[in-house]
Amino acid sequence: MTDVLDFSYESRPVRVVFRPGAAVSATPDEVARLGLRRVLVVCGARGADTARAVADALGPACVGVHDRARMHVPAEVAGTAVRAARAAGADGCVAVGGGSSIGLGKAIALRGGLPLIAVPSTYSGSEMTPVWGLTEHGTKRTGRDPRVQPRSVVYDPELTLSLPVPLSVTSGVNALAHAVEALYAPDTSPLVRLMAEDGIRAMARALPEVAAEPASLGARGRALYGAWLCGSCLGATTMGLHHKLCHVLGGTFGLPHAETHTVVLPYVLAHNAPAAPDAVAAVARALDAVDAPTALRDLSGRLGAPRSLAELGLAEADLSKAAALTAGQSYANPRPVTADGVLGLLRAAHEGTPPAAVTR
Ligand code: NAD
Repeated sequence: MTDVLDFSYESRPVRVVFRPGAAVSATPDEVARLGLRRVLVVCGARGADTARAVADALGPACVGVHDRARMHVPAEVAGTAVRAARAAGADGCVAVGGGSSIGLGKAIALRGGLPLIAVPSTYSGSEMTPVWGLTEHGTKRTGRDPRVQPRSVVYDPELTLSLPVPLSVTSGVNALAHAVEALYAPDTSPLVRLMAEDGIRAMARALPEVAAEPASLGARGRALYGAWLCGSCLGATTMGLHHKLCHVLGGTFGLPHAETHTVVLPYVLAHNAPAAPDAVAAVARALDAVDAPTALRDLSGRLGAPRSLAELGLAEADLSKAAALTAGQSYANPRPVTADGVLGLLRAAHEGTPPAAVTR
């Protein structure tokens, strides 16, 4: 690290309320604080019961529950939700659920101009970012717009009690990926580095506790705290090779979001390690480990997460195409991105070999 400080940091006006039971006990206050009187609650089919409990707590301030969120926000799903919000005369939106529900809330915020409140039920971190996504004709577009940043985020560890352990682990490692890439982002800063390191530490300690005792509110709270910090890092910085590669693997090859992040992260970190020694040292400190990529892979593998892209269904024949697509875009990354370099790490991730070999 150079000893001359040189950075920019922009904080966004987001209020965070964090406590068990907050989904029901705090969301009405957050709606009232924003002066909203007619909010639409959006969620996915699986989270509809929780969303209805939130809607009940809102009473007359809620004009309906729209339970049609789907993965990666298909444009037609977004269009239906925007029309539902307009038809109900909504003046705000409350998204209850994982990244898919929050993504749908963001689409309503973007197109309908409505303020958004997020009540997350996974560790995806979308609630802390001004990033929206929309999928049309098989292609996912993303963009940044301050209007989609939730004004208020209600973290309720009780909502995550039902998150199955395998999903908790992969969603948790998805969160770690945000913090890891924030550490070497071109727009990182001292505050981001603090959040990233503590976010990684909190999440990495909490995941084994969650796996051992999924009903522990303490462990769930510590994981959600880690997710908050990691999500804040995602919102504050520009992501690199890891996120671009996972975007290609999900968007073009249909691989599952959180599982793909979980398999790929140790390999990208090993690949970037020679060009980002301070970031790797911070991850190692947070994991209390000597070798950060190996420790990341051991953490998720020990907790039963998939270890290879082959397990996720990626064909070996697709590796070159994925590498070319990933190297064909331009984005910041500490190590120059070449098709050969990406192919090397993809081969290792496909087989699930120890990540240390990727560095050489
Ligand atoms: P998700 O919202 O699709 O949830 C995954 C699955 O878990 C779903 O089947 C959902 O019904 C279920 N689920 C959610 N919460 C649950 C709970 N508490 N108990 C039981 N089941 C539960 O996926 P995700 O991993 O939360 O988010 C991934 C999506 O979010 C992707 O589309 C990704 O691109 C997007 N994302 C966006 C940003 C951003 O900044 N815009 C950041 C991170 C992720």
